[in-house]
Amino acid sequence: MKVLPVLTFGTDELTPAVLSAAFSVAEEKFFLKPAYAGDHPPPLMGKRNGQLLADALLYHLQRVKPPSAPSILGLTPFDLYTPGLNFVFGIASPEPPAALVSYARLKDPDEKLFISRVRKEVTHELGHSFGLSHCSVPGCVMNFSNSLAEVDLKGEDFCPSCREKLLRALKERGVID
Ligand SMILES: [Zn+2]
Ligand SMILES: [Zn+2]
Repeated sequence: MKVLPVLTFGTDELTPAVLSAAFSVAEEKFFLKPAYAGDHPPPLMGKRNGQLLADALLYHLQRVKPPSAPSILGLTPFDLYTPGLNFVFGIASPEPPAALVSYARLKDPDEKLFISRVRKEVTHELGHSFGLSHCSVPGCVMNFSNSLAEVDLKGEDFCPSCREKLLRALKERGVID
């Protein structure tokens, strides 16, 4: 089984629940063995008013990803932005593959709802890291979402067409036979 390194950029009281949700997503949906790679100080390049520049964190992930890992996942309690967008729930790159999710805006007093949002965003960004694009099939986890309402509207699963693309990418990267 291929390993998915998972690292944090900062931690808080929600980190254990977030890590455990991300670990199950990696195993159930991507057939990867998650391994915690530690807490890394978030790069300060681009920091503004308590928000971090998502691209700087993604670059860090790409730099520390072991060549043998088919992707890498970063999780952060800090809010993220990227040039042109006031905030993002996460970003990802297919090459070199890396995925990043912030849970700053996913929080809710209802822990089940919070965890479901984390699962959706981790699935979505990891999906991008395996080359999946945004999908307009209603409910598909690869629907573009830039508001919590949109996150809550979509499901946790890939539509059949995205699922097929994902399985092909997982084969190409040697994750499954
Ligand atoms: Zn996306
Ligand atoms: Zn889809």
